[in-house]
Amino acid sequence: MPDQIRRQAPRIIAITNQKGGVGKTTTSINLAAALVELGARVLLIDIDPQGNASTGLGIEANQRKLSSYDIVLEGKPLKDVIQQTAWEGLFIGPANADLASADVQLGHQERRTRHLRDALRNPSVQALNLDYILIDCPPSLSLLTVNALVAADSVLVPLQSEFFALEGLSQLMLTIREIRNSGNADLRIEGIVLTMYDARNRLSLMVERDARDNLGDLVFRTVIPRNVRLSEAPSYAQPVLTYDPLSKGSEAYRALAREVTSRHSPLMQEKGAA
Ligand code: ADP
Ligand code: MG
Repeated sequence: MPDQIRRQAPRIIAITNQKGGVGKTTTSINLAAALVELGARVLLIDIDPQGNASTGLGIEANQRKLSSYDIVLEGKPLKDVIQQTAWEGLFIGPANADLASADVQLGHQERRTRHLRDALRNPSVQALNLDYILIDCPPSLSLLTVNALVAADSVLVPLQSEFFALEGLSQLMLTIREIRNSGNADLRIEGIVLTMYDARNRLSLMVERDARDNLGDLVFRTVIPRNVRLSEAPSYAQPVLTYDPLSKGSEAYRALAREVTSRHSPLMQEKGAA
């Protein structure tokens, strides 16, 4: 994409659900990879102390001298922390275990919910020419997650197709409303994506119907099927899109990326169609 028509500021999407094991990290890695396949430059910031997104993209713990901890707690510039992955156009701000103490440390600081926003919206970030910044959040509504929600343009919520899925969602919606009233009035909901969907399972169908009835267009048309290739790919330190490009999981994340781009960026939509 010629530089003069590149977006001035990257679109920042927080991938959030306070439940663990619902597909946040899987969605972060593979949506990022699918956006890159469409020609975008994408930074994935891992703010989960477990660092699964970092490992899943091949960045081992000993390669993480600087991490998102240094962005959120030490005020280090984004450009000093991020690393190029093995895939051109895909960058990572890795996590490390120091993040586990971030909440306690942030608790003592002024502007404690705004550190990540300040870093991501600093004018120097434009030089990185990013189209998207995705933030893989920890499984809680901690201060780290609040930092992500205050920094973001929108929230993308993976919803596991199982009983109780929608109950946790109302707590998240309340938090989003609070964030709009305090740190980030413009925070939008990018969409809710059903994950680990199994069309042969009545429960999946019920959760889907419930979600679509109650949340309408907020629910992406794309659903992410339960697909073993998706769970295997991280142990090969790859997105599923390169590990098994023709798998159902790859197809689903490509479709999700097309939905994300077509919802908000006509420019990217053209690229995707090309
Ligand atoms: P979270 O980041 O929300 O904790 P993960 O993305 O780490 O969730 O997913 C939890 C587990 O489920 C992981 O082992 C992952 O490989 C697996 N998983 C996630 N999505 C799928 C899917 N669509 N099909 C099969 N396994 C999946
Ligand atoms: Mg995770």
